[in-house]
Amino acid sequence: MTDSVKTLCPYCGVGCGLEVSPPAAAGRATHRDSQGNPIWKVVGDRSHPSSQGMVCVKGATISESLDKDRLKYPMMRDSLSDPFRRVSWDEALDRIVDRIRTVIATQGSDGICLYGSGQFQTEDYYVAQKLIKGCLGTNNFDANSRLCMSSAVAGYIQSFGSDGPPCCYDDLELTDCAFLIGTNTAECHPIVFNRLHKHIKRDRKAKLIVVDPRRTKTAEAADLHIAINPGTDIDLLNGIAHLLMRWDKIDTLFIDECTKDFPAYAEVISHYPPELVARKCGIRIDHLEQAARYWAESERVLSLWSMGVNQSSEGTAKVRTIINLHLMTANIGKPGAGPFSLTGQPNAMGGREAGGLAHILPGYRSVKNPQHRAEVERLWELPAGRISPNPGRDAWSMITGLETGEVGLLWIAATNPAVSMPDLERTKAALLKSPLTVYQDAYYPTETAAYAHILLPAAQWGEKTGTMTNSERVVTLCPQFRLRPGEAKADWEIFAEVGRRLGFVEQFNFPDSAAVHREFVQATRNRPCDMTGISYDRLQQEGPIQWPCPLDGGRESTSTQQSGILSNLFKGKEEKPKGKRLYMDWRFNTPDGRARFAAYHSKGLAEPADETYPFVLTTGRLYGHWHTQTRTGRIEKITKMHPNPFVEIHPRDAEKLGIKDEDWVEVRSRRGRARFPAKVTKAIAPGTVFVPMHWGALWADNAEANSLTHPEACPDSLEPELKACAVRLVPISAI
Ligand code: SF4
Repeated sequence: MTDSVKTLCPYCGVGCGLEVSPPAAAGRATHRDSQGNPIWKVVGDRSHPSSQGMVCVKGATISESLDKDRLKYPMMRDSLSDPFRRVSWDEALDRIVDRIRTVIATQGSDGICLYGSGQFQTEDYYVAQKLIKGCLGTNNFDANSRLCMSSAVAGYIQSFGSDGPPCCYDDLELTDCAFLIGTNTAECHPIVFNRLHKHIKRDRKAKLIVVDPRRTKTAEAADLHIAINPGTDIDLLNGIAHLLMRWDKIDTLFIDECTKDFPAYAEVISHYPPELVARKCGIRIDHLEQAARYWAESERVLSLWSMGVNQSSEGTAKVRTIINLHLMTANIGKPGAGPFSLTGQPNAMGGREAGGLAHILPGYRSVKNPQHRAEVERLWELPAGRISPNPGRDAWSMITGLETGEVGLLWIAATNPAVSMPDLERTKAALLKSPLTVYQDAYYPTETAAYAHILLPAAQWGEKTGTMTNSERVVTLCPQFRLRPGEAKADWEIFAEVGRRLGFVEQFNFPDSAAVHREFVQATRNRPCDMTGISYDRLQQEGPIQWPCPLDGGRESTSTQQSGILSNLFKGKEEKPKGKRLYMDWRFNTPDGRARFAAYHSKGLAEPADETYPFVLTTGRLYGHWHTQTRTGRIEKITKMHPNPFVEIHPRDAEKLGIKDEDWVEVRSRRGRARFPAKVTKAIAPGTVFVPMHWGALWADNAEANSLTHPEACPDSLEPELKACAVRLVPISAI
């Protein structure tokens, strides 16, 4: 390749456009990484609508990771104590197919599990879930997105009748008030934050509220930082709603015409007076009142959230409680306003569209819905009744299924559960019990590879062609621009080959990824995420395209007709709705077209602090690193930026325990222990400590945040509460 190519950053869900040039492009010296491999030049793509040429350190340095520690050939071993030996693709796939047949014969197809990833391209997702749900007849295909955004999915479905973030990034520059809760956007979604922050600085009337127990970089930029006690989000949100109600700052016309179940919600929020809320949340009453005032005085409020809300045992309730505020103030379906979840991974959104969780089917369908199952069975030319009506195993129940012996084959692809799952000691013990684990990844070693019997080399970013959807529903074509190392294959090719070997030749007869994409978009026809108007050709010619994009609808949303109420709202205003947002007609995807209020009292943390474990541990992410460092741990600039893990402790707590800055501290929970140097800082509230989640056994000894966390999950989304657990601190000098 001699010309530059446009693609998408493969890290976070912001989905920035990148322009990549080959190592020896004309007129440039070839830069090389520490292993002597030529480095591709990566810059921001100025024409990409989401990022407008911006790129953070992760996107800018991605090419340094492309050639390091690559898994190039299939490998196999009989037991975990044996060394791996190189085998042919035939030998590896024969063993997998044999095992699938054995498990079906002895345990039934529910004994087979595939655990995938938000780093898949949509084509990988689509073929994987077709193999498991369609051909094997079990819904045991889940992805690491379960640990990331499944609470947002459940919240949208329950409130609006279907999944799908209603907003777009242009709203960042149109809002009067940005309400950020449970998101360290400046570090975890930096380019979204850049766009928002520039707007806040430019428009002096626009306000930024940040709700976070930590004083993060995001909080430092806020007009109002509310450092609530961990787990009190619902109390705070209900408290704001209480004041809006008391001040008569709600939109009764919208509530009456476009929503349902408001009276029950109004009854619940009547029990959240400011004094009570301030006490429960550990905040000042005037801060609560100021937040409510910003909501009341702003015509357009935009809420952003991510893991701090989603990774909770009441994650769905939190999401719905955020949405309640938007419904009571009609802050939705108009520029600069709406509830907007930020996805952690580059293509978690594509997974939602393609059926990439254990309870959904492609096109935002549900496995529980008989009509949805029948539609997908027809598309796949499979006999009626082939798709199971039962949701499959979610990520954590794959682990518990290994414990009980109900899982006879675990296939893991593009994710690293030996670092990212909660309660790691239990996770690792379960992985040791697995009769056969297949691990498909681009890199070796990883922490999870140590638990695998079969390793399959996967082509990664730039080595296969496919599509990805970012948090604002923009689909970008990501073309192959470099050769694959060794015998690596695209994930979808591996899944399709297994499907054909199992006898589903017609179903997996895809000559290339474009053919997969053509079938996938057919599954979205007349669905809320209709993408039938999107094709590889069109993406190549026009660049990224936002959905909904039906075949006859071009780039515009299907939902641009304004109701009488909304057209009044925009009368005389410069900005007209452009079709970039969902629900612009204020008709939702519920049977009666009305959005639903939900009334929740907070239950608090699943494991609150107590006398034995007096601190709340919260976990999070750093600017340069991403997930479990599979890529970023191999990039020098980033490892220099964040060389070590640490535990943040408030000076008051540190003093009580005799801990000084940089002293080593053992953090203990009911499940495990980990050791970190202390970072004594007022950024964290007294009684709370913070540990970054990026370090697994490959990168540091005894520094795994998730050896401490627990798997207690939201009952609706099944997303574990990775963000909080009870711990105690022991100075190493005292051990
Ligand atoms: Fe990549 Fe996210 Fe950084 Fe954009 S903000 S360059 S998508 S990591």
